Amino acid sequence: LGRLYMPITQLSNVQVDVMTALVSFERVFEVLDLEPAIADRPGAVPLAARAGGASVEFDDVSFRYPAASEVSLASLESVAVLDPRVPAQVLHGVTFRAEPGELVALVGPSGAGKTTISQLVPRIYDAVEGSVRVGGVDVRDVTLASLRAAVGVVTQDAHMFHDSIRANLAYARPEVTDDQMWAALDAAQIGTLVRSLPDGLDTVVGDRGYRLSGGEKQRLAIARLLVKEPSVVVLDEATAHLDSESEAAVQRALGAALTGRTALVIAHRLSTIRDADRILVISEGRVAEEGRHADLLARDGLYAELYRTQFATDIPDPGRAEGTSGR
Ligand code: ADP
Ligand code: MG
Repeated sequence: LGRLYMPITQLSNVQVDVMTALVSFERVFEVLDLEPAIADRPGAVPLAARAGGASVEFDDVSFRYPAASEVSLASLESVAVLDPRVPAQVLHGVTFRAEPGELVALVGPSGAGKTTISQLVPRIYDAVEGSVRVGGVDVRDVTLASLRAAVGVVTQDAHMFHDSIRANLAYARPEVTDDQMWAALDAAQIGTLVRSLPDGLDTVVGDRGYRLSGGEKQRLAIARLLVKEPSVVVLDEATAHLDSESEAAVQRALGAALTGRTALVIAHRLSTIRDADRILVISEGRVAEEGRHADLLARDGLYAELYRTQFATDIPDPGRAEGTSGR
């Protein structure tokens, strides 16, 4: 939690728990609204589900994190991350478009704004200027419930509730059948493991139950995503803490998760970047370069430099060490 700012004075234990929860933004956006302004507009309509993926567009998006003074007292209990200073602008006129079914890779130095961009899609935060559209509709004009059903998020800090595997999967879609759960678990490369557990789907996971390894947890999170069947997937593929066998399994699972969906991937693996339909090089809150791997290499700019220093050897993002702060 090194990047979290000064807790508000008189933080109660409840709020400390909120901070712990922030480690997983997947959970945060499902359970809490960080920014009080983020709510359904009057007349918000449900976002239509799209087989094959929905387009994602950023149109001249600028953003800065809200300052403490902008958050009303009534909402303090839901806001544990506040910077007492007026925060600097983080995104400047970000514009790009992901076509339905495309895989768009976001690369760039640590602190460039990649996670921030990814958080504007499911409305963890709203753009300060410009608009973010999913399926051609501004995300502020659709209901939050339908938006968050349409956008699946997997980070390296996948959160699982201390509950059965069944409950963790059904949480994504309550009406899911056992057959659908098993299909998702198999596609996510974790069906065999779950079948081997004495209680199967009823196995309780978590500190006081079956302790999932990092890779298992991530695969279970991918199974949950498959159960949810979102049109758009937002993925931080960082795998720095996975061993290579586990990483290979996670990678196979992700293959299933990304097929037929629009994907925004904060990419750390050369293989993902090479296969991306489009690469956005993010630098200091701007799209510095955009194109495919070969084109960008030929340009011999920032991407070529990142490639030489990071991706050519497939070294994970050096920002990972402090990257577990749940942003
Ligand atoms: P990346 O994912 O590319 O490493 P981030 O989107 O996490 O970059 O961060 C972009 C900038 O926004 C950084 O300067 C970072 O310090 C700042 N930032 C990230 N999260 C917050 C937050 N919750 N409050 C204030 N500033 C933040
Ligand atoms: Mg990040």
